[in-house]
Amino acid sequence: MSTAAPVPQVIELTAVARRRGQYLYRQFSVPVGVNRISVKLKKKGMGQVGVGLFDERGCDYQSPGFRGVLGQESREFFISADRATPGFRPGAIHPGTWTVMIPVFRAWTAMRLTVTLTLAFGPEPNETLPGPEQSVVSPAPGWYKGDMHCHTTHSSDAHHSGSSLTPGEWAAKAQEIGLHWVSLTDHNVTSQNWQLQQDAAETGVLLLAGEEMTNWFHGHATVTGLSPGDWIDFRQLPVRMPLGKGAGRIRDCIMKARSCGAYISAAHPLRLLVEWRFWDEAKADPEARPDGLEVWTGRFQYDNWESLKLWDRCLCRGWKVWANGGSDIHGMHNEEGFAPGQPTTVVYAESLSKAGILAALRQGRSYVARSPEGPELYLTARGPGGQDEMMGGTVYGAADDQVEVSMRAVGGAGKQLVLIRDGKVVMTAAITSNDQTVSVTQMVGGGGYVRAELRGKGQASLLRIWAYRLGMEALTNPIFLVQRDGLS
Ligand SMILES: [Zn+2]
Repeated sequence: MSTAAPVPQVIELTAVARRRGQYLYRQFSVPVGVNRISVKLKKKGMGQVGVGLFDERGCDYQSPGFRGVLGQESREFFISADRATPGFRPGAIHPGTWTVMIPVFRAWTAMRLTVTLTLAFGPEPNETLPGPEQSVVSPAPGWYKGDMHCHTTHSSDAHHSGSSLTPGEWAAKAQEIGLHWVSLTDHNVTSQNWQLQQDAAETGVLLLAGEEMTNWFHGHATVTGLSPGDWIDFRQLPVRMPLGKGAGRIRDCIMKARSCGAYISAAHPLRLLVEWRFWDEAKADPEARPDGLEVWTGRFQYDNWESLKLWDRCLCRGWKVWANGGSDIHGMHNEEGFAPGQPTTVVYAESLSKAGILAALRQGRSYVARSPEGPELYLTARGPGGQDEMMGGTVYGAADDQVEVSMRAVGGAGKQLVLIRDGKVVMTAAITSNDQTVSVTQMVGGGGYVRAELRGKGQASLLRIWAYRLGMEALTNPIFLVQRDGLS
C-alpha cells in the first residue's frame, strides 16, 4: 500500500507597507518533498503592491533564484517543476530558505499585507527547461521590420487587459501584418521566452527573447535578444541613493544585458511617471548609457517629440546612442489606438536571425517607421574619396570636405522631408512622388551628425492628451561626420 502524500503546509507571512518605492522581503522555509508552491496576497489599506518570489538561491541583486513577479493587477500565482502561472519560471523546487518580495507602488495609507503560501508535497514532475531559439530564419541580407516593445500574456498588466497576445499569437500577428521579427518584452519576467521555436512555428517570424526591465520607480528599458532563461534585474537605484538589500546600479543592468548579448534601450524615456531617471550616471560614465533610446512609443505623442530633442542632446554630446521604436502594446483593444508594429523598427541585417538583428541594432543601421506598411526612409552619405555610408555609419574628412547626403523616401508623397544636423533642421523638402531621393551637401566641418525625418500632418486631440498625435511618419538613425585632416 502506498502512503498518501502529506497534507499541504500552509504558511502565513505578514508585512506592513507604509512607503512607496520600497521592496519588502519575507522569508520562509521550504522542506524536502514540496512539489508545488502557491502564493496568495491579501491587502488592507489603500495603495498598490505587487508580489514576487525568489527561491533558495536568494534575493540578492541579479540572483539566479528569481522566479517571477506580478504587478498590482494580480495577487495569486503558483510554481511547480513543469508548470507555473504565466510570468513565473517553472523549475525544480529545492528545499531551503525562499523569499517573497513585495514591491510597493503606491501607499496612500499604511497597508497590512498577508501572504498565504501553500506548499504541496508529492513526486516532482520533470522540469520544464527553456526551449531552443530559432536559428537563421532567412539567410538573405535585407531590411527587416520588427516590433521591439511587445507585451504578452506573461505581463500581469497585459494579461489583465483581457486582449493580450500569447507569444505564439504574436508570431501569427506579426506574419499577418508584415513584421519579420518581434521582441517579447514583458515586465521583469522571462517565461514568455521559454518556447520560442515552438511559438514561432511555421510563421517565418523571428521571435527574440526579451524583457522590459521595469524599474517601477526610476525608469524602464527594453532588452532585446536575451537567451531564453536569461533575466535582467529591475531593482536599480540612482547613484545618489545608497544601495540596500537586493539593489544595484543601472550600470550593472546595462553591463549584464550586454554580457547576455542583448541590446538595451531606455523605454519611453520622457513619458510621465515612467521616465528614465539615470541621467547623472549616464553623464559621468559611458557604461551607464543604454545602447538606445525608444524615441517613438506607440502612437507618436508629445513625449516622443520631447524624446527626439533629448536624443539630439545626447548625440550632440558625442554619445553613440541609437533611436528605436516599439508599440508597447498591452492589449489589442486599447483606448490609445496602439497596435502591433506601430511603430516598426526597420534594420538592415545580414540575415533574419538573432545575430543579424542584434548586429544591425548595435550599429544603428535602422530607421523607425509609422507601421510595417511604411513609409520607408533611407539615409546615406558619400564622403570624400567615395566613402559610402548608411545610417549608423561614419564619414571622415577634412573640415572643408563636402559630404553628399541623400535621403530616399518611399511611400512618402505629400509628406515633408527634414534633414537635421547637430540637432538643428538644415533642410526641408516637399515629397511629391512615392519614390523620391533628395540630396544635399554638408561640410564635414568640426564633425557632428546628420539624421532625417519624414513628417506628415499632425492630428492633435486636446480632449485626449495622451493620444496627441504629431505627424511623424519615419525617422532615421544618424550618420556621423568626423573631422580627420589629411584624409582627402
Ligand atoms: Zn512596456
